[in-house]
Amino acid sequence: MDFHTVKQKDEQYIEHTYNRFQVGIQEGNGATLTDFSGKTYIDFTSGIGVNAFGMNDEAWKTAVTEQISKVQHACNLYYTQPQVELAELLCQKSGAKKVCFSNSGAEANECAIKAARKYNADKYGDGNRYEIIVLNNSFHGRTLATLSATAQDSFHKYFTPFVEGFPSVDADDFEGFLNAVNPKTGAVLMELVQGESGVRPLDKEFVKKVEKYCKEQDILLIVDEVQTGNGRTGNMYCYQNYGIEPDLVSTAKGLGGGLPIGACLFFEKTEFVFSYGDHGSTFAGNPVACAAGVSVVKRLNQELFDEVKRKGEYIIKALKNTKNVLGVSGMGLMIGIQTNKPARSVVQQCIEKGLFVLTAHDRVRLLPPLNITEAELEKGLKILMEIIEA
Ligand code: PLP
Repeated sequence: MDFHTVKQKDEQYIEHTYNRFQVGIQEGNGATLTDFSGKTYIDFTSGIGVNAFGMNDEAWKTAVTEQISKVQHACNLYYTQPQVELAELLCQKSGAKKVCFSNSGAEANECAIKAARKYNADKYGDGNRYEIIVLNNSFHGRTLATLSATAQDSFHKYFTPFVEGFPSVDADDFEGFLNAVNPKTGAVLMELVQGESGVRPLDKEFVKKVEKYCKEQDILLIVDEVQTGNGRTGNMYCYQNYGIEPDLVSTAKGLGGGLPIGACLFFEKTEFVFSYGDHGSTFAGNPVACAAGVSVVKRLNQELFDEVKRKGEYIIKALKNTKNVLGVSGMGLMIGIQTNKPARSVVQQCIEKGLFVLTAHDRVRLLPPLNITEAELEKGLKILMEIIEA
């Protein structure tokens, strides 16, 4: 099928929920992608943080294809090996006690929200401590509950009534947080680096204070690691960079390296919250997605984290010295750039010159594959800097 036909059929048959750029991807290798005309691009997006080890990764392909030829799906009433392998790896690398699988980041957050409500219902009575404090400018997903937890006005239209119980406060404002706490408060939900709203890392002191307060008051601390997790910020999970101990962690994106999978991690306090029937999903913990996850998580080690940090610092340093850059923020290979140009026009110009980058609010966002080569990184950075400087 040629690109023109693909676009025509997309227009005709796919609901218009994505404002797509005029480019189609046909294949890729590592962080180099090829469009329908054979033009190549350096990929600083990894499919919005999903393709942790880029395209056509040998270990990932082998894990997926081997699993496909064994069992492609089994219902959750039976045991499968990839599910327990991935759950064990996740617990070993995070200190979590148990895992509940899902199919996406939003669903992992739904699971965390349900777990927080159940924990509080069991301990304090149903309907008493159901509120979950969230941060302004957060993004937690597009299901109704996670949209409700997403404290950005632009998301709170059309779909009323939203799910109640998500009061929001400003990030890094501990007094504001304390003011929002009330007898109904059962949990706090936060991204430690607010991704969609511009790649803004939270202040360490604020996070530590919230953690301490939550521990004292038996308020659950939920960290949304859908975007920051699985090596992205130079550690297995970003909460490890902050030196905190959450009670629940949601993750997805890079976890499957390109296949849809999410997970909610349950720590000591929440380990036994759910029992039979409290949560579930037909596809969650699909053996192929879990085998993909095992191949990704196995390789998330200190050597890779050091590489991610080194590359991230290199990019940030280069961009800080670039004309027209007003600010650079981020952690590891999750980077936001504020320039004096509209972010979407930078993205468009990058595409023309052979580079994929993302936006996050008013900023340009970079989420390259964790194993991007030095050569790909240099090539992409050169294009980006030239466009920003022009
Ligand atoms: N939470 C965060 C922090 C995210 O960045 C995203 C997606 O961008 C989500 C949740 C939702 O994940 P998904 O799109 O997989 O449902």
